[in-house]
Amino acid sequence: MHEPAVPHLQAADPEIAGLVEAEARRQFEKIRLIASENYVSPAVLEATGSVLTNKYSEGYAGKRYYEGQQNVDPIELAAIGRAKGLFGVEHANVQPYSGSPANLAVYLAFLDPGDPVMGLSLPMGGHLTHGWSVSATGKWFTPVRYEVRADTGRVDMDEVRDLALKERPKLIWCGGTAVPRTIDFPAFAEIAREAGAVLAADIAHIAGLVAGGAHPSPVGHADVITTTTHKTLRGPRGAMVMSTAEHAKAVDKAVFPGLQGGPHNHTTAAIAVALKEAAAPDFSRYAHQVVANAKALAAALAERGYDLVSGGTDNHLILIDLTNKGVAGKPAAQALDRAGIELNYNAVPFDPRKPFDPSGLRLGTGAITTRGLDEARMPQVAAWIDEVVRAAARADETVVERVAGEVRELLAGYPMPGWAPTP
Ligand SMILES: *Cc1c(COP(=O)(O)O)cnc(C)c1O
Repeated sequence: MHEPAVPHLQAADPEIAGLVEAEARRQFEKIRLIASENYVSPAVLEATGSVLTNKYSEGYAGKRYYEGQQNVDPIELAAIGRAKGLFGVEHANVQPYSGSPANLAVYLAFLDPGDPVMGLSLPMGGHLTHGWSVSATGKWFTPVRYEVRADTGRVDMDEVRDLALKERPKLIWCGGTAVPRTIDFPAFAEIAREAGAVLAADIAHIAGLVAGGAHPSPVGHADVITTTTHKTLRGPRGAMVMSTAEHAKAVDKAVFPGLQGGPHNHTTAAIAVALKEAAAPDFSRYAHQVVANAKALAAALAERGYDLVSGGTDNHLILIDLTNKGVAGKPAAQALDRAGIELNYNAVPFDPRKPFDPSGLRLGTGAITTRGLDEARMPQVAAWIDEVVRAAARADETVVERVAGEVRELLAGYPMPGWAPTP
């Protein structure tokens, strides 16, 4: 059952309680490889479900627009202090509702409508909010897009430099949502300096790896850093904008009153809890294990003939191009989901297929590492993925059902925070 238990929910709304219980069980029984997901601790769940959700707190500690902030102020200050300590930044704003609003705050802080903004193109691994056409950021600003190289699958810093000096963006984003390789923050900083641009590092995916010392930090290189708190950082759904002291005022004004009203205090408390967890030595071990697992899984997939974008991974994320397997991303992802292996179909760089039916799969090891799986298990996971992808190519459902059973059996031995067998 769900942990903490939800007896009041069960009594008041059995329909929703039943679905919550079913979701907890689903998360227990599946190998969850969606690169942006994780399992938060019971402590984070409790903070998220607390009475802090009842309180309105527009403004910042000491300068609120509503009374009764005796407990909320110290909670938000704790979250800010922990973020500053963990990442080594001069300023942190913990109020953004999620990653996309955090990124919007950066535009509001540094740009005027129509200004040029440079980011990694979406089909190359960039995020919608880095100036993609369907996003407000692509409609209200003038996007300039860099890509990865076709031969390496990696961003070429000479190409980024040439483009930046030609187009003179006011803001440059580095980071992305399907980037399996280390981001070269010093090189981006150098280019931004030459081009006279603000450098924003979006570490939404890799924040936990940065905090745990398993990926280089953008601190000291980027003017502003945005992150979600719920991916590898393993906190609640939320986000932060971090910066040098110089930009503190602009960042805070952009988040509130620029974009948002009252902060979600229950989320702020849960962020504080997650940041405390991320500062513990255990978390550094976790972050390094995430990367070790991704490297082991990538090696096992490559051994089975899978074409990995950029040839492998430096972080938690793997991007597979399925073209040589004779099956598209979507049917493969759907068959894998039926087999108890949850991931998402994804475009690969220079994908000849349509965005809603692309050629690739995206995987990440953040969640399975929280679950306790290690490198020794990765060849088995790769073997299951391979069996199911090959079965999907010939629509063989018996393989899918067999693998689902084997997956459930393996995971029964790996406890999950948030769910426990009914006593
Ligand atoms: C996930 C993600 C975001 C957006 O986060 P949401 O919380 O989904 O709005 C922004 N940037 C990058 C690079 C991401 O991966």
